[in-house]
Amino acid sequence: MNVCIVGTGYVGLVSAACFAEMGNKVVCVDINPQVVEKLKQGEVHIYEPGLEELVKRNYAEGRLIFTTNLEEGLAESLFVFICVGTPPKKDGSADLSYVYQVARDIGKLMQDYKIVVDKSTVPVGTADKVKSLILEEQKKRGVSIEFDVVSNPEFLKEGDAVNDFMKPDRVIVGTDNVRTAELLKTLYAPFARSREKLIIMSVRSAEMTKYAANCMLATKISFINEIANICERVGADVGDVRLGIGSDHRIGYHFIYPGVGYGGSCFPKDVKALISTALEYGYDPLLLQAVDRVNDLQKEVLPLKIINYFEPQGGVKDRVLALWGLAFKPNTDDMREAPALVLIERLTALGMKIKAFDPVARDKARDVLKDNSLVEIVDEQYDALEQADALAVVTEWNQFRNPDFDKLKKSLKAPIVFDGRNLYSPRFMGEMGFAYFSIGRRMYG
Ligand code: NAD
Repeated sequence: MNVCIVGTGYVGLVSAACFAEMGNKVVCVDINPQVVEKLKQGEVHIYEPGLEELVKRNYAEGRLIFTTNLEEGLAESLFVFICVGTPPKKDGSADLSYVYQVARDIGKLMQDYKIVVDKSTVPVGTADKVKSLILEEQKKRGVSIEFDVVSNPEFLKEGDAVNDFMKPDRVIVGTDNVRTAELLKTLYAPFARSREKLIIMSVRSAEMTKYAANCMLATKISFINEIANICERVGADVGDVRLGIGSDHRIGYHFIYPGVGYGGSCFPKDVKALISTALEYGYDPLLLQAVDRVNDLQKEVLPLKIINYFEPQGGVKDRVLALWGLAFKPNTDDMREAPALVLIERLTALGMKIKAFDPVARDKARDVLKDNSLVEIVDEQYDALEQADALAVVTEWNQFRNPDFDKLKKSLKAPIVFDGRNLYSPRFMGEMGFAYFSIGRRMYG
């Protein structure tokens, strides 16, 4: 089948490469000429395990084409996937200007029947708006070309995106057009091989499903972080509590890891966007507001522990903090809403210096933090420790899980570790002679 993907970021490029891998011809359109040029050279501009290989192979075999020209993308394609960003506006609502621009451009340029698929995460009612914008542009041209607008939200996770796309838990298709549903079933058949994985529903329910899923996951994280904060105060261990509650299959072990709060390009913005939609429709979403607030406060927990620790010793000014982890989670280079950024901002505002290391997000982080002269980003994990007063771990990359503790102890000026991901055993760290602070567990120091 012929597919056009508009927007080649985490979602667009992964979808495009996976569709191409199944034999479809996919034209990827992006307005950023540098991104398109890099892709044409076989360089993938985002870090996603397995993606580069898939892109290179399908590009070499002619099933994947990159262009800045939407007209070229539309020419032969039956499906046009909108995969552009929907970042949060200042008031928390989703900024739909990129989606609307693509809709207008499709209306201006389309020559024959198209199935326009909203894959970007968009508030309920956006498909209707996309439809009206395309109709408006057609009217200006004096043409009337048939098309359908479908909602097909994406559930892939950064860091495991190719796998998630190839073997999805479900594919949601929002449409009331039976023929369009059948065509999408055919396109997705290689991925959702069992019939029940492909769930067809109304457009509005599909749009809502994406927000409900992300808000549920964000709720689990804020819930366990709140439990962790209470554990700390009452002398309980959130690790044990997690095991205890997760053993109930109605709760489960997934997504109840306490830490430094959720980040990334989806949960923070999607929780805020659903709050905004609910308020717009006259409903006060108390639970979602609490989830959001708990998360904002959770990002302050680790910097506060560091500030409080050094307070009696003259404060954090001019001290050096080694920081392991910058990306908002492992296996990605995405720095959007990363908890590390809040930590860096709070501590450098007080004059603390940061020496940071991340296995893949270094370049993105250098760009994001280029104006902060107190931050140095190093290329080697253990180089971050030299002359540092303490170590903070913020992202749970595997290589941080079992470090050389002797080297760690020798390299730091004093053996102090602030662990925002509960990677180490408090008892072990205490016995090793570290002052050790984690989330919701016993402290040493
Ligand atoms: P991204 O920022 O990585 O990529 C968006 C791309 O769209 C950019 O390359 C940009 O240049 C391009 N673009 C913008 N306007 C354009 C236009 N008019 N024409 C062509 N290209 C244009 O975004 P992303 O992380 O892939 O997210 C895209 C959407 O998918 C968002 O709505 C997001 O919420 C949703 N989503 C993201 C994830 C994720 O893990 N990143 C997962 C599921 C859903």
